[in-house]
Amino acid sequence: MTMAFTRPRGTRDFLPEEMARRRYVEGVMREVFESFGYGEVQTPTFESLELITAKSGEDIRRHLYHFKDKAERDLALRPELTAPVMRLYINELKRSPKPVKVYYIGNCFRYEEPQSGRYREFWQAGVELIGPPHEEAEAEVVALAMATLERLGLEGFEVHIGHIGVLRRILEDGGVREEDQNPVMNAIDKGEEAALKGLLEKLQVPEESRSVLLTILELEGPSREVLGKARALLAGRTGVLEELERFERVLCALGFFGVEGYRVDLGIARGLDYYTGTVFEIYAPRLGAQKQICGGGSYSLTETLGGAPVPTCGFAFGFDRVLLALEAEGRKLGGDKGPKALVVPAGKDLLGEAIRVAASLRKSLPCEVDLMKRKLVKALGYADSRGIPLVVIIGEEELAKGCVLVRDMKTGAQRDVKVEDLGSIKVHE
Ligand code: AMP
Repeated sequence: MTMAFTRPRGTRDFLPEEMARRRYVEGVMREVFESFGYGEVQTPTFESLELITAKSGEDIRRHLYHFKDKAERDLALRPELTAPVMRLYINELKRSPKPVKVYYIGNCFRYEEPQSGRYREFWQAGVELIGPPHEEAEAEVVALAMATLERLGLEGFEVHIGHIGVLRRILEDGGVREEDQNPVMNAIDKGEEAALKGLLEKLQVPEESRSVLLTILELEGPSREVLGKARALLAGRTGVLEELERFERVLCALGFFGVEGYRVDLGIARGLDYYTGTVFEIYAPRLGAQKQICGGGSYSLTETLGGAPVPTCGFAFGFDRVLLALEAEGRKLGGDKGPKALVVPAGKDLLGEAIRVAASLRKSLPCEVDLMKRKLVKALGYADSRGIPLVVIIGEEELAKGCVLVRDMKTGAQRDVKVEDLGSIKVHE
């Protein structure tokens, strides 16, 4: 007995209707990214393990799909696209005039525990902005992420913006070196309070820095309010205040982009080691536990990958989650993509004629030929079940007059149409 095969755990099949929705959302994202000057790139599905693990963060490393190829090379399926795109930049684009603005839409792989909104193969759509050292660049990527969701018609989303530079600087003042900061950031990202306190203790962070950090992490709300509290809390700490001022300039630049309604949240740390300054996350609260639909910020990765330092920022949408959020709001995602007409031969020997008619009709209307060689009534039933609005019947009698019979499936009305006039028939929906 042969076994039926099932999909690997955490992966999905997409049927035509769902693919049409996915392609529609992809199309809107492409349009908005391109309207801001970003151009599409594509990188391989697998990369060297070393590239993927450089500054990637513990969580990513733990969930990696990695393998050796036949020549014993260590490779990994990409868990995200920022590192691959930075590699592409160093290999191919580093001499290009700045800024370099690229976007991608591609599948990613993480060996995580599957649940609603969390898969082992999922898609990310994101942008990377390379070159401009100014706060306006960080603001642009936040504005672009928001503009994309607005264009898609998503209503229920919340934008939380923080600044990792502020957190890293507090740790630095407390004597914590960069490599020791990453596990701390990870614990903050995961909201693991006990682990965080344990780490701060282990790293012998002075009590004062510890309490400033823990208080800062709790600050969340409208920008003016949070910034006021942060300034008061950080008084006298020049280095940290400089980072806070940088952050304030980003928020100010967001105003130029007409962005408002976000929340400042200094507790955002992101789970990847390469983030440096502004960080942001977008949530769709309707999605429950897996509500984060976008994550991004400014980061530093080119040097780690053997390139020259260059300011970089970007974001990645969890494409599948954006789709889930839109569907949860009942958004209509694109029009009906199916065929608009079914060309049916009414008689055994007329299939060839039907194929010929369909070929010319197809120039103006997506249509399908009934290839089943079945009775007309069966073919009509098929058109009905697939919601095909027109049936073009090829009959001996009509053909003799140079005509075909066009049936409107909604009303049942039928009329003769000259074969040469078929190009101008319209579907009334
Ligand atoms: P990250 O690269 O971890 O910052 O993730 C960026 C976005 O990808 C997140 O905001 C999620 O929306 C999405 N994402 C991450 N992991 C998964 C997953 N396992 N399944 C579906 N979406 C994911």
